[in-house]
Amino acid sequence: MIPINVLMLEDRAPDAELVMHELKVAGYDAEVTRVDNKADYLQQLGSSYDLILADYNLPQFDAISALKLLNERDIDVPFIIVSGSIGEDVAVEAIHMGAADYLLKDRLTRLAPAVTKALDQKTMRDAKRATEERLRESQERFQRVFEEGSVGIALVGSDYRFIEVNDAFCQMLEYEHDDIVKLGIEDITHPDDIDPAADLSRQMFAGQNDAYRIEKRYLKKTGDVVWVQVSVSLVKDKEGKPLYSIGVVQDVTERRKAEKELEFLALHDALTELPNRTLFTDRLSHAIVTGTRDSSSFGVLVMDMDRFKEVNDSLGHQAGDLLLQQMAERLRLALRQADTVARLGGDEFGVLPTNTTSAELTIVTARKILASLDLPFAIGEARIDAGLSIGIAQFPEHGRDVETLLRHADVAMYVAKRNKTGLAIYSQEHDEHSAGRLALMTELRQAIRNQQLELHYMPKVDFRTRRTYGVEALVRWRHPVRGLIPPDQFIPMAEQTDLLSSLARWVLETSLKQLDAWRRAGLELSMAVNLSAANLHEASLPEMIRDLLAKYKLDPSALTVEITESAIMVAQADRTVRRLSDMGVGVSIDDFGTGYSALSYLKTLPVDEIKIDRSFVRDMAVNPDDAAIVQPTIDLGHNLRLRVTAEGVEDEDTWLVLESLGCDAAQGFYISEALLPAELEVWLKQSAWGIGAETGESAARLRGEARVR
Ligand code: C2E
Ligand code: CA
Ligand code: CA
Repeated sequence: MIPINVLMLEDRAPDAELVMHELKVAGYDAEVTRVDNKADYLQQLGSSYDLILADYNLPQFDAISALKLLNERDIDVPFIIVSGSIGEDVAVEAIHMGAADYLLKDRLTRLAPAVTKALDQKTMRDAKRATEERLRESQERFQRVFEEGSVGIALVGSDYRFIEVNDAFCQMLEYEHDDIVKLGIEDITHPDDIDPAADLSRQMFAGQNDAYRIEKRYLKKTGDVVWVQVSVSLVKDKEGKPLYSIGVVQDVTERRKAEKELEFLALHDALTELPNRTLFTDRLSHAIVTGTRDSSSFGVLVMDMDRFKEVNDSLGHQAGDLLLQQMAERLRLALRQADTVARLGGDEFGVLPTNTTSAELTIVTARKILASLDLPFAIGEARIDAGLSIGIAQFPEHGRDVETLLRHADVAMYVAKRNKTGLAIYSQEHDEHSAGRLALMTELRQAIRNQQLELHYMPKVDFRTRRTYGVEALVRWRHPVRGLIPPDQFIPMAEQTDLLSSLARWVLETSLKQLDAWRRAGLELSMAVNLSAANLHEASLPEMIRDLLAKYKLDPSALTVEITESAIMVAQADRTVRRLSDMGVGVSIDDFGTGYSALSYLKTLPVDEIKIDRSFVRDMAVNPDDAAIVQPTIDLGHNLRLRVTAEGVEDEDTWLVLESLGCDAAQGFYISEALLPAELEVWLKQSAWGIGAETGESAARLRGEARVR
């Protein structure tokens, strides 16, 4: 049984009974409400019915009027007229007005099929209406997106001309609506992007695809570029023939810019804006691919700045940064646009020059770079000569892969640095050297443990007494195979490793132990020990020295630390120096005159002594220029109440000149080389420069004078 809700317009109850019976027979479980006048009918129209069955003629009402009321209220309920005989013309009018059917009371067998048909038609009508509603809604939604949306939308015909565009699209391109619809898509596309987009569109209109997405550049009316992402889909007619395309256009300029910046940051050095190691090795591997394919040759340059650390240490990091930036600029200017110049890290640069098809041509490029460094760099007030050591490796002779080429260029660079030749090209025998260098560091680690290091002591003589008052400890390495290795050959290497702090510890411990032994034997000497910049970085250094002095019951004034000018300028060094000085340890500036420093530190830091560098002292007896440097240096030291010591005194003439200039103390081969402890003890007894009878007193007096501050 199908339940239906029926409104029946009928004045005669028996007729109504008949109709209901007929419905029941046909399988309908009908819930019937009967009315017989207009007022009741109108009231019932408020509730919903599945079906209206209406008698044609009622005493105060009729079916046609009922139908009219239904239409006026826009109510869609199947309306069937059930009546005595009615005229054909009335029936036609009723159907015309929307009645579903009409039938005669004496032919009620037609009722069931008529109801079924009317209900089916109503179901169909409802479905159609729902579909139309959905369509209307989606059209409305599209219209709203089109008109008010923030994405650009463009309808483009198969001739690639605009049919319609929305406001957002116009705003994005800064065009007036009426101007843009006169244009074609190519008129606003960046010339480089026309072809790829046009290909995709052509394929779409040819039916090969229904949609595509592309990122491309549009040109604003002003000519400025906008990066857009366009999603294009095809609209077809009922037969499937392409009508036009809809493009949804998003401005992705900002995103592209951010991506580009990220990409740049990932592949470039922030300080110099040069390509970084990643990009450099990438270009190098491309060059290798090309070189292998074409059997061509090219050169790779690895370059390291010669005195960068010194500048950084003495003038500060900002000055160091400036120097790196200026170096980058020099390199850029010295090379061609197509050459790759990269910062590989720290003060290391790499160059991948074009057109270096032979090692000779690569050397020409390297010389060009060196020539560009002839003029000094201006960093603030300072004028700095910053050199580069260039190592060259040539593809394919010196390597066929990135790693080998770079390693070999690196080896050559070390050779250039060591030999001070500016540039070097890789050769097999270099490699053995660099391997040897590594091995040496490994051995040095063991050397400290295996007691292969020894200290030699160089006497320091006071000009007034002409007697030795102290010694400088100088380290040497007694290598089982190579013999005695001077400090210049392993300390610079050790400075790049953690070995340096064990070395300093060993030197301090050994020299202070020796000093204690000499004092017990009645030899009153002071001890000078050399420290490197990196030693001053160690916060624990002052404590270590304090502990050692306590261990050997030595007065702190018996020890002087020698520090180069550049080392004392390093950021934390001044704190270490102050703490040492507060403890009573003497502070001496080594190699004075060779650094870049502004001398102001002499006033602010607790310095006790300056040591005029050997290079000025060596030739001063014969070279007036050198003498002209030494004289004011001595005067400067004395004005600041510092002791002035001259290093590298090799002959009597020099000694005499220094004496006449008022120098306080001297050391050098004229007096003695650095000696082993036993040798020194003999020398002190036999030499005219030795301690002598009254020396204990003399040494004490000198130390006292040195520490006037
Ligand atoms: P420095 O501190 O300037 O030491 C003086 C150097 O000049 C010594 O070389 C010494 O032998 C040499 N010398 C002294 N008088 C003369 C002379 O009249 N003529 C010539 N031609 N040379 C003279 P050495 O022992 O080879 O030391 C070289 C450098 O190694 C030292 O220069 C110092 O900077 C460093 N050094 C030596 N021992 C140590 C150490 O224990 N620790 C640290 N960090 N560095 C050290
Ligand atoms: Ca020294
Ligand atoms: Ca020195």
